[in-house]
Amino acid sequence: MASEETITSFYEMGLDDRLLKAIAKLGWSEPTLIQDKTIGLLLEGKDVLIRARTGSGKTAAFAIPLIQKILSNKPMQAQQEIKGVILAPSKELCNQIYQVIVNLTIKCSREVKCIDISPQVQLNTQKVLLAEKPDIIVSTPGRIFQHLKAGNINLKESLDTLVIDEADLIFSFGYEDDMKAVLEYLPPVYQAALASATLSEDVLQLKKLVLHNPAILKLEEPPLAPPSQLAHYSLAAEENDKAAILYALLKLRLIRGKSIIFVNTVDRCYKLKLFLEQFGIPTCVLNSELPATSRCRAVTQFNTGTYDIIIASDEKALEEPHVIKQKSKRRKDKESGVARGIDFQFVSNVINFDFPQDVNSYVHRAGRTARGKNQGTALSFISIRERVLLDEVESELKQSYGRATLFKTYQFKLEEVEGFRYRAKDAWKAVTRIAVREARLKEIKQEVLTCDKLKSYFEDNPRDLQSLRQDKALHTVKLQSHLKDVPEYIVPKSLKRLVNSGKRKRKFDREIAMSGATPAKSRHVARASNPLISLSIPTKKK
Ligand code: AMP
Repeated sequence: MASEETITSFYEMGLDDRLLKAIAKLGWSEPTLIQDKTIGLLLEGKDVLIRARTGSGKTAAFAIPLIQKILSNKPMQAQQEIKGVILAPSKELCNQIYQVIVNLTIKCSREVKCIDISPQVQLNTQKVLLAEKPDIIVSTPGRIFQHLKAGNINLKESLDTLVIDEADLIFSFGYEDDMKAVLEYLPPVYQAALASATLSEDVLQLKKLVLHNPAILKLEEPPLAPPSQLAHYSLAAEENDKAAILYALLKLRLIRGKSIIFVNTVDRCYKLKLFLEQFGIPTCVLNSELPATSRCRAVTQFNTGTYDIIIASDEKALEEPHVIKQKSKRRKDKESGVARGIDFQFVSNVINFDFPQDVNSYVHRAGRTARGKNQGTALSFISIRERVLLDEVESELKQSYGRATLFKTYQFKLEEVEGFRYRAKDAWKAVTRIAVREARLKEIKQEVLTCDKLKSYFEDNPRDLQSLRQDKALHTVKLQSHLKDVPEYIVPKSLKRLVNSGKRKRKFDREIAMSGATPAKSRHVARASNPLISLSIPTKKK
């Protein structure tokens, strides 16, 4: 078990001083379990299949040895060469990996150069940078293939290491052909590492294609943080009641802290956003149809605290698998990747408003919280129709943890929040299909207006820019200011009793009226230890 094993310190790994200093600067006092296991093996030159849960520190697990090898070999190297290629299935992931490498090479940025070529700029713009032969290239398979085909890079003589991150998504994001084509451009022998949160069929296929060194070590650990760190709740909620329940949970502050709400379609992203907006609950959205810059902005706005709630629809749920694999027929940006693998920071709660379609997707979603050593909660709304999917997840995951059950039941007495239900019904209805369509169109329009090429126009016309800022509420649904407040008569009795006296009441009222903004200090779905909660909806009265 992870906790019983002795972890080798970074200092005992024989790493270069410059790397150690960078690690110290990042505040990493000791390696994570996956780093402890992987760094040594990669330094020895072995091929590795890293099956690690998201948030386990796997990026540094392959980045540290890659940088170390480059630093060690540099003095013997006659000329500058591309030594490492890291492939990932989306631009966001590439950017994230690149940032980790930048941080790890902060003390040796002259010796170890890295570029991320995933952004879809002109090939020629990147050609100039590639001509300098950076030590490490981070890219999507599609992008690097374009450069290989164009002769802008040659890896045949120089490449030492190939890393494929989030390997289980490479094929499903339509990169199968590109991936296979890239392999043709690599030297016959190189060290390879595959990192993935799950071991799907696609990963096993990639493993056959890429891992060619016989000394393969497969590292496994449970796909998610242990239940003591990541609590899984299910909440019985029929389709018509989900919105009301979410509204009540947020407004009664039974859900606190930064939250990702997952839905299964792009339309539902906007429907929910427009619904919550009517109650003064600000959210941003993330889905594969947003242009790359909007997606990056949404993630940044969430990570930097502009929004405490992000509503995301994940790729798997958006399309049927056969459509995903037919990349030529796809009209969407296949590199979007949306929420999977992205390092959302300080997420307290993952809320499955719609339950994911399979176990892998649940793992990817729930893995957005309880990262590193943080606590987290995954709360799933379950309709009768979704029960079977929950059972599948339960039966698969509980084996990993050797437990009889994984999901705790979050008791929610709908009858206690009749007032919320009543308001929610109207608010949900107010978000018509036209409203959703307009919201989607509006966001695309915003993107056009915030594009770089129009920058000078906006400098001359700042008011236009102001009116189109992304954090501006979408006015496709008429907002009624009274809905932002929670009148006392709709607060459940159990909560009312508690807050009816003096100071506490005032505090509660103030907080309730806070339009859904959640204080940074209390970051989790409130637990029974919180007096507001133990008397209220989720648990039986004691
Ligand atoms: P990853 O699984 O690579 O996405 O990493 C998840 C998070 O863990 C990132 O925010 C890293 O900054 C953080 N992290 C990686 N290695 C360590 C470490 N040894 N100690 C503490 N945090 C770490």
